[in-house]
Amino acid sequence: MRVLRSALLEKYSGLIHGFVHDPGGPDLSKISSVHGLEGILTVNQIHGNSVFFADCAAEEELAEADSIVTRRRGVGVGIVTADCVPVLLCFPDSGCVCAVHAGWRGTFLRVVKSCLAAVCEKYSLRAQDAVAAIGPAIGRCCYEVRDDVASQFVSRFGRGDWIFEKGDGKFLLDLVEFNRMELCDAGVSEIETMDMCTCCRDLPSYRRDGSGTDKMISFVGISP
Ligand SMILES: [Zn+2]
Repeated sequence: MRVLRSALLEKYSGLIHGFVHDPGGPDLSKISSVHGLEGILTVNQIHGNSVFFADCAAEEELAEADSIVTRRRGVGVGIVTADCVPVLLCFPDSGCVCAVHAGWRGTFLRVVKSCLAAVCEKYSLRAQDAVAAIGPAIGRCCYEVRDDVASQFVSRFGRGDWIFEKGDGKFLLDLVEFNRMELCDAGVSEIETMDMCTCCRDLPSYRRDGSGTDKMISFVGISP
């Protein structure tokens, strides 16, 4: 099991987190017990921008959402990815943690801003009190998209340091940078990007290995 950690989140002793590649897994009960958590809650990810608040006891069925939030101590929230961008968003002083899944569709739907806004409203928190770690995801080195995707982004957001034209109707899209900018723009106080490309750094990658690829789990919880 390979576990990567954010130096930023490690500064907060009350947070437990990891970006995990558990080959053949992820085995959530093993990963949670290794980290001293009761469990890791997940959602049925649908490439949207809705938020699931996991504040009550376990539900029978997985909720459909792309952000999962909790304030329960000792329970982690996680999302699974293989190239998509995992974002762990934490309010260390208020004991609230979120895991967000941002592929290109979620990024286009501004999933991290949706999560931040929903959490701030529900719990009366401020974005300035949040810190975020953006985990391993496909980098702009490898994330080539065609004009159909690129043109949707450009027509909605204009151009920026997150899209690069290669010619022949091909573009490189930097989803990590886009999501970093969104968090920064929303006022999140500190943001760390891991800068590890899943496709060229031997982590689970749909682009490289297709649908049979392993998946990473990125999780965060508040220590019991
Ligand atoms: Zn790469």
